[in-house]
Amino acid sequence: ACGYELLRDPQFNKGLAFSYKERQNHYLLGLLPPAHITQELQVQKIMHNIRSYADPLQKYIAIMSLQERNERLFYKVLIDHVEELLPVVYTPTVGEACQKYGAIFQQPHGLYISLKERGKVLDCLKNWPEKFVQVIVVTDGERILGLGDLGCQGMGIPVGKLALYTALGGIRASACLPITIDVGTNNETLLKDPFYIGLRQHRTTGKEYDDLLHEFMCAVKQTYGEKVLIQFEDFANHNAFKLLAKYQKTHLVFNDDIQGTAVVALGGLLAALKVTGGTLADHTFLFLGAGEAGTGIGEMIALEISEQTGCSLEDARKKIWLVDSKGLVVKSRRETLQHFKQNFAHEHEGCKDLLSAVKAIKPTILIGTSGVGKTFTQEVIETFASYNEKPVIFALSNPTSQSECTAEQAYTWSKGRAIFASGSPFDPVTYEGRTFVPGQGNNAYIFPGIGHGVLVSGAIRMHDDMLLAAARSLAAQVEQEHLDQGLNYPPFQNIRKISANIAVAVAEKAYELGLATRLPKPANLLSYAESCMYSPAYRQYR
Ligand code: NAP
Ligand code: MN
Repeated sequence: ACGYELLRDPQFNKGLAFSYKERQNHYLLGLLPPAHITQELQVQKIMHNIRSYADPLQKYIAIMSLQERNERLFYKVLIDHVEELLPVVYTPTVGEACQKYGAIFQQPHGLYISLKERGKVLDCLKNWPEKFVQVIVVTDGERILGLGDLGCQGMGIPVGKLALYTALGGIRASACLPITIDVGTNNETLLKDPFYIGLRQHRTTGKEYDDLLHEFMCAVKQTYGEKVLIQFEDFANHNAFKLLAKYQKTHLVFNDDIQGTAVVALGGLLAALKVTGGTLADHTFLFLGAGEAGTGIGEMIALEISEQTGCSLEDARKKIWLVDSKGLVVKSRRETLQHFKQNFAHEHEGCKDLLSAVKAIKPTILIGTSGVGKTFTQEVIETFASYNEKPVIFALSNPTSQSECTAEQAYTWSKGRAIFASGSPFDPVTYEGRTFVPGQGNNAYIFPGIGHGVLVSGAIRMHDDMLLAAARSLAAQVEQEHLDQGLNYPPFQNIRKISANIAVAVAEKAYELGLATRLPKPANLLSYAESCMYSPAYRQYR
């Protein structure tokens, strides 16, 4: 592109940062006001604008329209102010954006594949302008964050996740493709909303659903080859587990809600062990919530225990107990249990609620993944803490209002003994003169690094051992000074370095397992991984 078109092309536009020479050489004279400003100054200006909006949704609209205008500046802003902007580009603001996606819709991002495109999915992919795609994030919009079915408007999620792949994991922006598969929605509010952007029909299920997804998965492989990473995002659990099991044998797939969550939680637990002492196998785990997050984490813990001790997965799972909406998951309930809970249905008397389960099981680690807030009550935490010197409490449900307890409650009710982490951010808490910094088990620690590691090694499948390697790498990056503050995750501002280290651990494992195709293996994986990371600095145009 040159001239007027150059200014309209987000991949190449630099706005007022075009030098005079570039303006002369690329037919830009007269098209820009005379001033020349640097990218750094542009970042300051954008941040000034964003901060001037009180409404988070306005911030979201401002930053997303920057992505449409000037991609490199968008990523520079995001990378330089990652902690401030993560809640805008991602949860919680992206949730509100999805709810109102139709009303704020300006330009389409990514690909929309609906039931109407049955038989034509390949054509849709061919219409996408980039031929070299490396990461796809796809949703069907049925379980967007904790907000439920948002149908086609779930698109904000793949768009946001991929922005983080680039900003945090260094995947080239043009190699990222967000996709929404629209099979209808059961959200009556949206079906009545005149601005709704999706198909106006109820969700299809069964064969029609499976066939469209299968056509999609085949078309992706046919278009982009064996090495494209497909991340499933915010599918409801009845489809999520099935799709992952079905396609992990034939495609490079990853489900962030199941596996990403599991890795970030395991990483935090491994770091917490440095404070509690003992190994993973010495602990007893109780989960409130037995869905994608709970059983995903449970399975990952069992895998790690079995690798560490050599015991069978079955034996390792015996350390893990789940409570769902009907109480403790036990063997006598097996007939009516969803299949993903079956592995954790142990021989035991039933317990109708969390408190009785805590009393009966006497866990040493308590994890909340139910999506229901305020469920770690004072009585639950006091009981749990009464027989644990260092009670480990992870309240992972999002958003903040759904957190099982607050950081302050965890520290206060355990009399300052808890090792606490949460899904949503909490400010530091001072209890009896000591300040605790709660860790945030944000999946953004994990998926960008895993993705980068997969791409760096050219892996063609995701193996559980690669996921375990990512969790160990995350834990290894938590230093004593962080632990001393109560923090069991590394500080988020170092995320690009954290992602690079995770990428190396994942890539190492891929080579070891024979799943890597980038051969020969680079001599220094870390410097190779870092050199491959996308930089948003402007390029000079000759
Ligand atoms: P999900 O698949 O729908 O599972 C929810 C589970 O919670 C189900 O097993 C459900 O029981 C159970 N449950 C619901 N209400 C309950 C109650 N009142 N008492 C006991 N159990 C109850 O959802 P998910 O994908 O696992 O997500 C769950 C939560 O985890 C969400 O809040 C999400 O934001 C959070 N999460 C956090 C992170 C993170 O921090 N990094 C990552 C992912 C998810 P039934 O099976 O009986 O219906
Ligand atoms: Mn998700």
